[in-house]
Amino acid sequence: MNIQNYINGEFVNPVNGGFIDNYNPANGEIYGQIPNSSLEDIELAYNSAKSAFKQWSNTALEERSRILIRISELLEANLERFALAESKDNGKPLSLAKQIDIPRAASNFRFFGNAITQFASESHESVGLNAVNFTVRQPLGVVGCISPWNLPLYLFTWKIAPAIAAGNCVVAKPSEVTPMTAYLLGEICTEAGLPNGVLNIVHGLGTTTGQAIVEHPHIKAISFTGGTATGAHIARVAAPMFKKLSLELGGKNPNIIFADCDYDKMLETTVRSSFANQGQICLCGSRIFVEETIYERFKADFVQKVKQLKVGHPSDNSTNIGALVSKPHLEKVEGYIKIAEDEGGKVLCGGLEVTVPNYENGYYLQPTVIEVEDNSCRINQEEVFGPVVTIMSFKTDKEALSLANDVKYGLSATLWTNNLNRTMQFSQQLQTGIVWVNTWMMRDLRTPFGGVKASGVGREGGFEALRFFTEAKNICIKY
Ligand code: NDP
Repeated sequence: MNIQNYINGEFVNPVNGGFIDNYNPANGEIYGQIPNSSLEDIELAYNSAKSAFKQWSNTALEERSRILIRISELLEANLERFALAESKDNGKPLSLAKQIDIPRAASNFRFFGNAITQFASESHESVGLNAVNFTVRQPLGVVGCISPWNLPLYLFTWKIAPAIAAGNCVVAKPSEVTPMTAYLLGEICTEAGLPNGVLNIVHGLGTTTGQAIVEHPHIKAISFTGGTATGAHIARVAAPMFKKLSLELGGKNPNIIFADCDYDKMLETTVRSSFANQGQICLCGSRIFVEETIYERFKADFVQKVKQLKVGHPSDNSTNIGALVSKPHLEKVEGYIKIAEDEGGKVLCGGLEVTVPNYENGYYLQPTVIEVEDNSCRINQEEVFGPVVTIMSFKTDKEALSLANDVKYGLSATLWTNNLNRTMQFSQQLQTGIVWVNTWMMRDLRTPFGGVKASGVGREGGFEALRFFTEAKNICIKY
């Protein structure tokens, strides 16, 4: 299936006519083509967004809210179609796309459709000065949203929904590896009555199409989710133009397990937090630290459970682990397994490609558990972003905390304990943007989402996202 850009409410070919291949990771075959957009396409998208801005930014909040909620309803009504497209494009199990990705994309629109009607700003009476100060929060204008391939529609809409709810117009680019659901979203937006030009979706390569969005002198803000190296590059390009930047980057998240936890719940959740979406979630707990007293028990139980996970075709209902997103990514992940072994890591299970009958050219890999002894090894310091976790034991709270923080990333951490003091000590001292205690990836869309250190700057979610997509202006009236 060939797809087009969505500009000014219409589906159009790229100006220069170039297309690139889109692969199905489950069988390794090319199944469509996507526009290889260039500067000219970004200019068209920008002009369309700019023309729509005046009217959209003055559209009553109730009307904006109504349209966003309508988009959400249409996504729900088209759940099956979107889930199939997401699974085919990304390789993730169809069941996961149905249960998580598409419902969450719909929730993003519903949430921000409601949130914008509750978004208030402050006023300050300057007592004794006969003056009153109040703040207005104005939309920025045209903003850029760039998202990755791991949770394609989920993360694409996580940016777009608050941006348009706040009155901005958007030039957006999904990952070139997973463009399909972003393409389908255009149809839904038109059907929901989103005015032409409010959302423009342009497809193409990061280094050209994405770069053109970041470099565009009049695109006021960039909301980016992706790798840390790309984020650093974007910051370098955007900073001299004083663009607002929200950067959600990589992670190397610790999963810290104490002997006093609810063991069964921890074990079951740890299998999920390690391998959900083939381990391709920025929040996956890829470094598992286990208290020494239960280390051998955990090791045996965990490996046994991981061996039971079924690697298979994404549309097979019994599949737990689908295909990795692309061949280069599969090779990158395999490269890390080799690096880990070279550095003394012991592969306890997995590590090999899987041949799925009838889909021999798909990008399948066994879920892999590696035992390591030193947190400074590359497999514990660098983001793999695949179905690979390491396990290592610790003796004391102090040691566990130090291991958890001894990494350049700081996105999330998971802690398993029933000790209240320990919970509070760790929650305060873990250098991450998110701490989960006795759970994983439980999301409430009102909460701030983002990381510290090399995991990024800025927060998404709730009113934080609406603050990012607006400029606060102070007005002082003397009477
Ligand atoms: P990349 O950084 O490679 O790409 C992310 C997006 O940026 C893609 O749309 C990509 O386009 C685009 N891009 C690439 N180069 C540029 C550029 N020079 N200018 C503008 N845009 C560009 O990340 P991946 O897609 O490989 O995603 C995986 C990464 O995302 C992991 O590191 C993961 O941790 C991180 N991530 C972070 C999350 C968070 O919330 N912190 C959540 C999910 C993922 P294209 O794909 O077409 O090259």
